[in-house]
Amino acid sequence: MGNVREVRIARRTGFCYGVREAIDRAKESAAAGKQTHTLGQVVHNEGVIAQLQAQGIETVDTLDEVMSGTAVVIRAHGVRPDVLTRAESRGLDVIDGTCTWVIQEQREIKKLVDEGYSIVLLGTPRHPEIVGLLGFAPDALVVDEEEDWEQIPRRKKMALLSQSTQPPWKFEKLAAFMVGRCHELKIVNTVCPVTIRRQEDTIEAARGVDLMIVVGGRSSANTKELTRLCGIVGTRALQIESEEDLTDASAFEGVSVVGVTGGTSTPIEDLRCVAERILRVAGTPQAAARAEELATAALAAAATPAGRTTSLP
Ligand code: SF4
Repeated sequence: MGNVREVRIARRTGFCYGVREAIDRAKESAAAGKQTHTLGQVVHNEGVIAQLQAQGIETVDTLDEVMSGTAVVIRAHGVRPDVLTRAESRGLDVIDGTCTWVIQEQREIKKLVDEGYSIVLLGTPRHPEIVGLLGFAPDALVVDEEEDWEQIPRRKKMALLSQSTQPPWKFEKLAAFMVGRCHELKIVNTVCPVTIRRQEDTIEAARGVDLMIVVGGRSSANTKELTRLCGIVGTRALQIESEEDLTDASAFEGVSVVGVTGGTSTPIEDLRCVAERILRVAGTPQAAARAEELATAALAAAATPAGRTTSLP
């Protein structure tokens, strides 16, 4: 037993609309009786992947693993254009789940290449979204941390874009850095609004609690950024992958109110489970006894019908 009397879930958490849409399209395809695959993991969450497998939806790493005539879902990150062409030429039933925001990025980058700009892309070099974007701009330079930036050459016409989930502050800083690198700089802000809103909501939640629990993949950049932001506003944050990581009540010593947030690949139902686990592991006797009820209420307060964040059953 502990001192935690309340757990709050940050607003507008759960899957982002791009991830949700790709998952729903895969589920709809399988429910219609089609043999369905996703090209790469549609979401980096083992629980969701297991749930999809139970519905007959398999993850494949390459198109070669998919038989002609069956359905293949392109995940929200998108793919290089030649991958789509190849899937179609092989007679696959392509379900393009590329997020509309990523499609916009792909169009923008192609247009800038056609207009003769040298492209700099802020992002993680091997991230699937970046790999897809490079299919539209093969000569683009991908940079991530500040130590990479010195390799940006000096050119007359340069354009800067970002992977959708990069932190806005980093994009702004790189834009300022690039001003001194060229005569003409075109900046297309492709940081996704969902990423920005999630960061704002996480900061808002962090300001009112004693401890934040951030749920998401260990290597997820957007999850790590949420953890970092909690620290910036002065609230201690613990990053976990799932409720199973919460076994030790000592992390909650002296903590009365806990906030929970999650990355864009974390289902909101997982946040409810985490909230319940916190109350069971570290709640006051009264809160622990009502753990399920309090966690469900926290979820209801966060996931309004207008901001539905769960996927289809
Ligand atoms: S983070 Fe934004 S751009 Fe990326 S899939 Fe989600 S909604 Fe789309």
